[in-house]
Order: sequence, then structure tokens, then C-alpha cells
Amino acid sequence: MNILPKKSLGQHFLHDENIAKKITGSLTGFGNYKKVLEVGPGTGVLSKYLLNNKNINWYGIEYDKDLVQHLKNKYPDAANDVIYGDILNYDLKSVFNNESFGVIGNFPYNISSQIIFKVLEHKSNIPEVVAMFQKEVALRLSAKHGNKTYGILSVLCQAFYDVEILFDVSANVFYPPPKVTSTVIRMQKKKSTTIINNEDLFFKIVKKAFNQRRKTLRNALKSITDSDNLKSSLFDKRAEQLSISDFVMLTEQLENKIKNDNRFL
Ligand code: SAH
Repeated sequence: MNILPKKSLGQHFLHDENIAKKITGSLTGFGNYKKVLEVGPGTGVLSKYLLNNKNINWYGIEYDKDLVQHLKNKYPDAANDVIYGDILNYDLKSVFNNESFGVIGNFPYNISSQIIFKVLEHKSNIPEVVAMFQKEVALRLSAKHGNKTYGILSVLCQAFYDVEILFDVSANVFYPPPKVTSTVIRMQKKKSTTIINNEDLFFKIVKKAFNQRRKTLRNALKSITDSDNLKSSLFDKRAEQLSISDFVMLTEQLENKIKNDNRFL
């Protein structure tokens, strides 16, 4: 393979077939999707196993033109399913309409959190995700309240998905080896999520609360509503002390109070 990895695209190519098998085998089909989107297929090490899986239709989105061509040559039967594009800006509805699809990938580490936000945008169509992250990010995604690494990603992800840490992958199975350990996680859509009436408000509160995570919620949220609305004892706490359901409850409390407040509209 004479492909020179591009640092700007976060390219670290996996060259261990057993690990590729293990990662692709971690998709369970949970939620009955028939299509799978691979983010950043690169040289196609995961794609090979996904293409061999007759239960699913593979699509890959890759932002490196040379690799798009490489993939089309390598897998001619799937050439039409190799999409040239930036996962963060691509209109996924144009590919999947309203069908559900699984997501898989060794995510480019420089944009892995943003890819998760993209998944959350499409969460009603994405029942399952299997992805490799740098270990710190994987731990953040699965952290529980009271933990230092618990943050925006943990709350927003776990409000909608069960997040499971599967296994670590050491740097030496990549070319070039990254400076960090990698971790594969699986996310499956929660069956009975507490219904959040106002998701925009929920997202906004979680972000505000953690952006000033040392402050009490009362202080962190005072720029968005009157102090009269922040009297309950929940607001004495700091963001990292609140469980997901506390955040949901807090959103509901505020929602009723701020219906006519145009700072939220
Ligand atoms: N899946 C391959 C490559 C992982 S490296 C393997 O396991 O070996 C990450 C891949 O994501 C690279 O191929 C890189 O070109 C691609 N990539 C980087 N930014 C991207 C973006 N914004 N949209 C889609 N693909 C991207």
C-alpha cells in the first residue's frame, strides 16, 4: 500500500485483521437496521468485513479523494456506495431518507466529538453505533455523574443511548501509530428514554451548566433565566453532580417557568 497518511485528516490506518474483525463483529443489528454507514473507511480494512456481511448494505463516507478512488477500485461492486464528503456537513437524509442505519468507524480523532453531535442530530434514525475513539473520549462518553470526566458529551449521549466500553486497541496496530490508546465503544438507543419535551432547552442547559462547571447551577444558568426560576435545591449543585435524570427533571422545571421568556425562543 503506497498511501501516505494525511495528518490533517486524522489518518491512522489499522493493519490488524483480527481487530478489524472484532470491531465490525461488534455491530449487533440492534434496532433492525439494514444499512450501515462507515465514517472514514480509509483503506477499507473495516469495509471488507462489512461488505461481506450479507445482512447489511454498506455505505462509506470518506473525505480524502485519493482514498475514495482507492476504495472504488478495491471494491468495484460497492463503488456507488462510496461517498466523497465531509461527515460533519453531509446531508445524510439524501442517502438514507427516513430509514434507520447503523454507524461504524475508526473515527478521525480530531473530530470525533463532533461526529457524536452529528449522530445525536440523527438519533431517531440511528439505533446503534460502534466506534473507536481515543481512550479519554470513550471514557468521557460513558462517564457517570460524580466523575471528573463527566461532561456535556456524557449527558447528551447517555440521555439517548446506552454506552458500553468494549475493548482497548493499542497504538502499534496502526500506521502511523497514534500517540494515544484507542477504545472501541458501542452505543444502543435507549428503548424507554424519559421523554424530553424540549430537547433544545435540554441541550442548552447541559451546555451552559458544564461550560461553567465549577459554579453552582444557579450561577451557571443565571444568564438565561431570572433568579426566581432558580430557587429549587437542585440548583445548589454543580453540573457534574447531576445525573441524567436530574438534568431532565431540571429541564422540565425550567420549561414550565420560561414559556414566555424570549431568551429561550
Ligand atoms: N477506517 C480506517 C481509517 C481510519 S483513519 C482504518 O481503520 O484504517 C480516519 C479516516 O477518516 C481517514 O480515512 C480520513 O481520511 C477520514 N476522515 C477524516 N475526516 C473526515 C471527514 N470529515 N469526513 C469523512 N471522513 C473523514
